[in-house]
Amino acid sequence: MIPEALELFPGGVNSPLRAYRPVGGDPPTLVRGAGGHVWDVEGREYVDWVGAFGPLVAGHAHPDVVAAVTEALACGGPFGATTEAEVRLGRMVRERMPAVERLRFCTSGTEAAMSAVRVARAATGRPLLLRFDNAYHGHADMLMGGEGLLIAPYGDLDAVAALPLDQVAAVIVEPVAGNAGVVVPPDGFHAGLRRLCDEHGALLVFDEVITGFRVAPGGAQQLYGVRPDLTVLGKIVGGGLPVAAYGGRKDLMDLVAPVGPVYQAGTLAGHPAGMAAGEATLRLLDEAAYRRLEQLGSALEEGLQEVGRVARVGSMLTLFMPDETAFAALHRRLREAGVLIPPSQWEAWFVSLAHTEDDVERTLEAARG
Ligand SMILES: *Cc1c(COP(=O)(O)O)cnc(C)c1O
Repeated sequence: MIPEALELFPGGVNSPLRAYRPVGGDPPTLVRGAGGHVWDVEGREYVDWVGAFGPLVAGHAHPDVVAAVTEALACGGPFGATTEAEVRLGRMVRERMPAVERLRFCTSGTEAAMSAVRVARAATGRPLLLRFDNAYHGHADMLMGGEGLLIAPYGDLDAVAALPLDQVAAVIVEPVAGNAGVVVPPDGFHAGLRRLCDEHGALLVFDEVITGFRVAPGGAQQLYGVRPDLTVLGKIVGGGLPVAAYGGRKDLMDLVAPVGPVYQAGTLAGHPAGMAAGEATLRLLDEAAYRRLEQLGSALEEGLQEVGRVARVGSMLTLFMPDETAFAALHRRLREAGVLIPPSQWEAWFVSLAHTEDDVERTLEAARG
């Protein structure tokens, strides 16, 4: 850790996990990334499975993304006015996710989730929100805990049905849980949520900040064939820049200002550089790209099963070790071998299009040791 960082920022970081508290040791100071690899300040190279915690499905510094962002920045802005780039990326989102009939770009997943539930409360006139345990929907007060928030065990429809759903504005769910390690939803979970929401007049909100454009072209809602009322996007939609979005049914999104009473705004929303990065990234995600992500993901999963239990959906996976100490030891060992994985057992590893079979092999060799 750069000593001055400890002076400047709480824990030396601008986001808590970067402090490496769960695994201990000094977090690396990274200076460069290219494809599936990163380099630290001492020039050591690592295979990078952290992928900035989700956005980098194209890997670091993909030439198309760099070119698009460079061109956008050279054109000035942001302009405080709607641009063609926003329309293009908005159209690409809607083509891939038909349930997102209308959307609003913003700058973080936190903001998008907060805004989506604000819309749900306005639409239903109900106070309560329901989320699942160990889920993460950003750090807005209304989704962190406290009054107005019900919490059910992930995957447990009976527990959901036992709650006062008639007073619930929205059920918000990560369709593949990614912040408790990867947790694959039980069969029929989302269809069951859809049914319960319809029966009780609650809205179903999919937080696809991780899964959106990662697990399938149309995200988890395509993979599981369930249409949410509202969708929260982030990470990949901005191709590594600070872009997020929320969207869904037109009638709901028309509650947002200036059409409706739900005020939500953003100085940097729809930033040209972010729109360019998102567009360039989504363009890379054709059918062949998803086959490639699946191929690399399954090779990694297969090898890692020799070491522990693996949960995976496509290019997001977690290797569960028996306990935190074992995970910390694994993390240290991989790092020494030039492989970076998330500094917590409860985060997903992210495979990118830039990773290679070699990266998988190097990782498995180190993990077996
Ligand atoms: C990362 C994440 C968020 C928050 O996004 P930020 O851009 O970090 O605010 C919300 N929901 C899920 C599922 C996430 O993984």
